[in-house]
Amino acid sequence: MTIRVGVFGAGGRMGATVCDAVTKDPDLELVAAVDPFHAGLDLHQVTGVDAPLQLAASAEVLDASGIDVVVDFTQVEAARDNLAWMAAHGVHAVVGTTGFDDADYERFRADFTRSNCVIAPNFAIGAVLMMRFAELAAPYFETAEIIELHHNQKIDAPSGTAMHTARRMAAASRDWAPDPTTKHVLEGARGGRTVDGIPIHSVRLQGMVAHQEVLFGTTGQSLSIRHDSYDRTSFMPGVVLAVKRIASVPGVTLGLEHLLDL
Ligand code: NAP
Repeated sequence: MTIRVGVFGAGGRMGATVCDAVTKDPDLELVAAVDPFHAGLDLHQVTGVDAPLQLAASAEVLDASGIDVVVDFTQVEAARDNLAWMAAHGVHAVVGTTGFDDADYERFRADFTRSNCVIAPNFAIGAVLMMRFAELAAPYFETAEIIELHHNQKIDAPSGTAMHTARRMAAASRDWAPDPTTKHVLEGARGGRTVDGIPIHSVRLQGMVAHQEVLFGTTGQSLSIRHDSYDRTSFMPGVVLAVKRIASVPGVTLGLEHLLDL
């Protein structure tokens, strides 16, 4: 049976790539596209994607009964409202937007009772594996730092992938050496720190897409685990997989790894 898909943030960099992937998959049908800035314009005009749709200003004008799954790649403030709408209307949510906090996750768990929600900070299979390898390595090293590198239009820092990686490394090991730095000549030089204490350094450079390196060190050796997304199409197999599987994963799922049995 064809899955009817809506895309929120359809005029954005990721949203437009998702629209293209959905129209190219024979099992999916693109039935709605939302983007307030480009509202009323033809999807083709804005994204180049060949689908006879006009961009809607907001979810409120959509007929939820005609949509099975919404894919949201927007901004965190907008995504909070979008997810509330999806939960209230019983529409499944595949979410790539980053920047949520723990209070958001709590609320989503309470809200999604009629439909399911998959939130993944990174839909690229290589990034999912990088996070898994970092989790496996964590207990064998006393020191670790994360360097994430993204294009210079990204508005949140650090990346959702870096935060998710740090959380998983901290869950895998509590045995981290204390930071010896006592004199901060330049504030922020040691990066940002999660509650778990693993430093995260964010780089924003023109020409980049999404990259991350996890560095581990112990006596006389280090290990670097690096993943690079060179193109936004790298995220599409993961997004399409989540759209196809979401009906069978109840409640709120954090991370694509749970759909891949990693
Ligand atoms: P972007 O180009 O700025 O796209 C965001 C889009 O969302 C814009 O078109 C924006 O419209 C639209 N938008 C804003 N409010 C909206 C609303 N209420 N309803 C619907 N659409 C709305 O950013 P991007 O590079 O595509 O990234 C989008 C998000 O995806 C970011 O959070 C980024 O970190 C994340 N991301 C996730 C992954 C992953 O694998 N999970 C990969 C890459 C990026 P305007 O033009 O009006 O602002």
